[in-house]
Amino acid sequence: DSRATAAKVADVLDLFQAVCAREEAELGRIDQIAGDGDHGQGMAYGSTGAAKAARAALDEGAGARTLLVRAGEAWSESAGGTSGALWGAALTAAAGVYSDDDGATPRTVVDALDSGIDAVLRLGGAQVGDKTMVDAAVPFRATLEKAFTGENPAVAILEAAGAAREAAAATAEITARLGRSRVLGERSLGTPDPGAISFSILMTELGEHLS
Ligand code: ADP
Ligand code: MG
Ligand code: MG
Repeated sequence: DSRATAAKVADVLDLFQAVCAREEAELGRIDQIAGDGDHGQGMAYGSTGAAKAARAALDEGAGARTLLVRAGEAWSESAGGTSGALWGAALTAAAGVYSDDDGATPRTVVDALDSGIDAVLRLGGAQVGDKTMVDAAVPFRATLEKAFTGENPAVAILEAAGAAREAAAATAEITARLGRSRVLGERSLGTPDPGAISFSILMTELGEHLS
């Protein structure tokens, strides 16, 4: 039902907070080479803000849709930075597939991921090959669509996360044209895009969490 769905969504945001805290130093290290060094901090602040806002909404009795709208606003505000705005927009877009009054179906989480990625593409305007999180998100979405049978979303998410991890690692081979790392040019060669790495880690953890 709607309460159980809202609680599950809040659990996922708690998971994201824990994973971002765990990965903060490593994401910062990568962004130091390929960007400006603040990606770990941005993801940690953003996910913490989102998880807190989700808990507060849940305590007020809000449904999953409202909870995700508040979490998206909080992620953008708490994180600052490019990835914060994109993750915030992704959560807000994901909110649109949830209802405040009904529970979720197996397809809901798949549709939410699809809408979230669409928002990142629209707002950021990056294309595959620009060395951004889009390089991981696009193959993730394509694999998810193929792998999802209409039943267990976790299996499809895990398979898609594998594609995202591979694609994120492959961004080490390209120099950046967009985002902060563009100003560093060749210096990012050999280092993967931090936003692609954090995306692939979060989707892997989501798949494991739902399994
Ligand atoms: P900032 O670049 O403002 O310091 P972060 O360090 O938190 O923000 O995030 C950097 C990440 O944001 C990059 O590694 C990249 O994956 C992602 N990014 C930057 N610009 C774009 C864009 N236009 N579209 C999609 N993702 C982007
Ligand atoms: Mg940065
Ligand atoms: Mg920055």
